[in-house]
Amino acid sequence: MELLKAKKILKRLEEAVKMVEANLKQEAEKAASSRHHSLGPWKDHADQSGSVAECSKCGAWVEVTDSSHPKDTDINGPAIVIDCGYGWKSKTRTSRDIYR
Ligand SMILES: [Zn+2]
Repeated sequence: MELLKAKKILKRLEEAVKMVEANLKQEAEKAASSRHHSLGPWKDHADQSGSVAECSKCGAWVEVTDSSHPKDTDINGPAIVIDCGYGWKSKTRTSRDIYR
């Protein structure tokens, strides 16, 4: 029965993580669309540290991360600071590349 209890707790934690992630993404989408970007699908980082979505019109990206990196905030990227159509050229892909 202990195992069952632990599994139930784990499931609840996973649901909580998903909810936080969904809220973050929603906020990021709101911020990007207020700058007229059209975000494509979210893609998870290979190391599970976050997800990134790119504007289908200009390529500017927005990223949600776990903030474990000292210079990261939860929501990063040119798509939340630059208006769409201002010639964003994606030389760097994520905050990991910028701050490396
Ligand atoms: Zn755009």
